[in-house]
Amino acid sequence: MLWDDFINSYWRDWRTGDRSKDRDKLEEPDWLADWLKQRSLPAALPPEPAELEQLQQLRGLLWAEVQKLVQGHAPDKTVLEQLNVYMSQGPVIRQIVWNGEGKAELSLLPQRSDWGQVMAEITSSFAAAVLEKETSRFRICENPDCLWVYYDDTRNRSKRYCDDKLCGNLMKVRRFRARKKAGGKGSTTGE
Ligand SMILES: [Zn+2]
Repeated sequence: MLWDDFINSYWRDWRTGDRSKDRDKLEEPDWLADWLKQRSLPAALPPEPAELEQLQQLRGLLWAEVQKLVQGHAPDKTVLEQLNVYMSQGPVIRQIVWNGEGKAELSLLPQRSDWGQVMAEITSSFAAAVLEKETSRFRICENPDCLWVYYDDTRNRSKRYCDDKLCGNLMKVRRFRARKKAGGKGSTTGE
């Protein structure tokens, strides 16, 4: 989804937790170019400093709201009103379009090709998730060095990590080592 993709543009080194390796991909023109293309979002690259700042502010706003949702809070009305401000920068026209398989579907066509429109699209994707999906399924990866944001669409709502093979395994190993260390003191193996 567009909204979690966007929040995750702030990347942390999930293996080491070395914060000096944090990457803000919004500041990486190549990443931005790929992302816009992948998402069919039109905007001039690179963003102006003021636009970049606005993007980072929007990301901060969404990230803070996700943290609250994850803690079980209801969506914050003031935040929702702020989303309206971002969405007002991106007008759309309703139109029937034909998809790759020739099937007609209703679509909202963005009317501008700038960062205001991009932010409106991101915001609208977040607003749709908050209002139409289950906020109790919003997640932040439980690896404290990762903090990747995602939507848990598993049937039993049990997805604790962004990726079980990566963060899931890493945390399993950490728990195992911690147990071994704690248990090792009184053990006879002398470890
Ligand atoms: Zn993770």
